[in-house]
Amino acid sequence: MALVSKLPSSSSSSSLTQFRKPLIPTLKPANSIHFTKTSCSASPFTEKHSVERYQRDKWVFKNQLDQTPPENHTNFSTRDYEIALQLPELKKLLQVLREKREKGGDGESEKGRPGNVFLVGTGPGDPELLTLKALKVIQSADLLLYDRLVSNDVLEMVRPDARLLYVGKTAGYHSRTQEEIHELLLSFAEVGANVVRLKGGDPLVFGRGGEEMDFLQQQGIQVKVIPGITAASGIAAELGVPLTHRGVANSVRFLTGHSRKGGADPLFVAENAADPDSTLVIYMGLSTLPSLILKLIHHGLPPDTPAAAIERGTTPQQRIVMAELKDLGDKIASEQLVSPTLIFIGRVVALSPLWPQSCCSQEGSHIMEHV
Ligand code: SAH
Repeated sequence: MALVSKLPSSSSSSSLTQFRKPLIPTLKPANSIHFTKTSCSASPFTEKHSVERYQRDKWVFKNQLDQTPPENHTNFSTRDYEIALQLPELKKLLQVLREKREKGGDGESEKGRPGNVFLVGTGPGDPELLTLKALKVIQSADLLLYDRLVSNDVLEMVRPDARLLYVGKTAGYHSRTQEEIHELLLSFAEVGANVVRLKGGDPLVFGRGGEEMDFLQQQGIQVKVIPGITAASGIAAELGVPLTHRGVANSVRFLTGHSRKGGADPLFVAENAADPDSTLVIYMGLSTLPSLILKLIHHGLPPDTPAAAIERGTTPQQRIVMAELKDLGDKIASEQLVSPTLIFIGRVVALSPLWPQSCCSQEGSHIMEHV
């Protein structure tokens, strides 16, 4: 039995919208200069070939053909040069920032000091799940590097004159390596820019935030982390699922379905994770889910354990599949859920107000009117 909901997340319902007030009246409202509205787009996130991505990043590619190698290398490191060769507009921006700094624009005390790098969690997609701190930092940034899972709606909140650069990945395609991202962050911080690295969810939950912090701190750059609502929390709230619940689940465990080796069977932890008193939340788990389910059942998790998969949670394109563990793989396949999808396994899933409809339906599948 399964339930499928295609309806907008609760946060975007019109009844809520009526009562919304501006969060911080002194901050600039979202601009729409660079972007088209998410509602016109097939995905709430940045896809490799999306119009949104092209529009945001086109400043980086203009005048690419005019690029000439720098003659004077004294003020221009090899690293800067390599970035500039690829991305001439980045070089220009670096030069402008360097000149501004050499003129001492921000006062003597700031002269020569590196800028800050902010590692900012943007939550699972709904822009209203941003923290006030994140919003402030986003609106004061010179340059923002963003991942695929930073939603288009969140990106509408940047200043009209801020520079955005996509550094995310889509399955099987790396647009920038992790090393290049490190170098970009470092180069801009070194010329005193406030650089914001936006990450979906929380930067320190399966976000590689630790690696970026480590690298930059070793280079003497201060990194400030602004937490975000991780997909597990944001989506559990959408479903009305308590991640822990007295007498039902006394712990919650976040797992990744990705293998460090890139293999198909990464789930070495299944043996320990097959605990009926615990809630499992699987990130990046779509491709390895069938093998995880088999292992969990093999190691003692009851096949009728309630489970749910949520695609594009907290966005207007959210879809929910609910089923018993043994049926979850088939239901996900028949609904053709795509990334990003988060999976919940555990008895707490049955506490969702949506669960009775999934378990009691004769047809086994529903389109929901409201979440
Ligand atoms: N740092 C992020 C996780 C990044 S790993 C966080 O704290 O949420 C990427 C995985 O997170 C995706 O493959 C998916 O499993 C999950 N995810 C992130 N956002 C999601 C969303 N809006 N809907 C469903 N799953 C999401």
